[in-house]
Amino acid sequence: MTAAVIDGKAFAAEVRSRVAAGVAGLVAKGITPGLAVVLVGEDPASQVYVRSKGKMTVEVGMNSFEHKLDASVSQDELLALIAQLNADPAVHGILVQLPLPGHLEEAAVINAIDPAKDVDGFHISNVGLLATGQKSMVPCTPLGCLMLLRDRLGDLSGLNAVVVGRSNIVGKPMAQLLLGDSCTVTIAHSRTKDLKEVCKRADILVAAVGRPEMITGDYVKPGATVIDVGINRIERDGKQKLVGDVDYASAAEVAGAITPVPGGVGPMTIACLLANTLTACCRANGLPEPEGLTA
Ligand code: NDP
Repeated sequence: MTAAVIDGKAFAAEVRSRVAAGVAGLVAKGITPGLAVVLVGEDPASQVYVRSKGKMTVEVGMNSFEHKLDASVSQDELLALIAQLNADPAVHGILVQLPLPGHLEEAAVINAIDPAKDVDGFHISNVGLLATGQKSMVPCTPLGCLMLLRDRLGDLSGLNAVVVGRSNIVGKPMAQLLLGDSCTVTIAHSRTKDLKEVCKRADILVAAVGRPEMITGDYVKPGATVIDVGINRIERDGKQKLVGDVDYASAAEVAGAITPVPGGVGPMTIACLLANTLTACCRANGLPEPEGLTA
């Protein structure tokens, strides 16, 4: 079997155009959604992410507010900026680019964001709301994976889902979302025994491990849908290459459908950030939420 390729790049473009249509509807009512991104320090990868987030925010018709702070900024100064953004009615979404320099306390910074503007979905209130099946802001990467799965499989109810990875930003919220869609969910991690056998039971296999090409074809149930969250930069044949946590070549021979890297989950993350900002803006204005762009 050769798996169907789940084209995240094309689907993300579709999500962004639906967001743009939603934004146009709000602008016609005199409301422009605004996303504020806070970048601390000069980390090159973070700078690239922030630049591309800003560009796409403007492309869908939203206001983009970038705040670049020196790496030496104090916790109090950063918290003061967040308080200012929380109070600003033109700002509907706030994202603090992670990781932060070591002297800053990440959890305290994230939990200082107004949960209604927490478009990354990392605030402890949003984590609790998601875990209890209530309306929340959902972390962008797992939301993107869920959208791809619903698009591919329709009703997910009753399917066996295995999520490899238990991080707060990907693995755990991914598992909550799949549970919310009535999958039977297993969360695997570095201490899981017989990982291969666990994965082989999955109708839906989500890899969020951070280990290049670890999940090979012999971890995959024939016909399964494989979502590869991993982004790993490796050197092969003297060239820099981007690979996932799944060994694409061998997994694609067994799976029914699979996301490539690049071009799978990656583009969905920013698209979902924009979707969350639109949702936050609609909620802030007491307007109906955009359809198909939330969990
Ligand atoms: P973390 O490092 O926070 O978590 C990795 C998880 O994988 C941990 O739960 C860890 O288990 C588990 N793990 C590590 N080694 C093994 C192993 N040998 N067997 C089974 N489980 C293992 O990573 P993230 O969740 O932040 O990210 C995961 C991947 O997703 C990375 O490649 C990252 O680059 C990518 N990513 C991609 C995004 C996108 O936009 N596409 C966004 C965010 C992340 P334990 O808890 O026991 O240590």
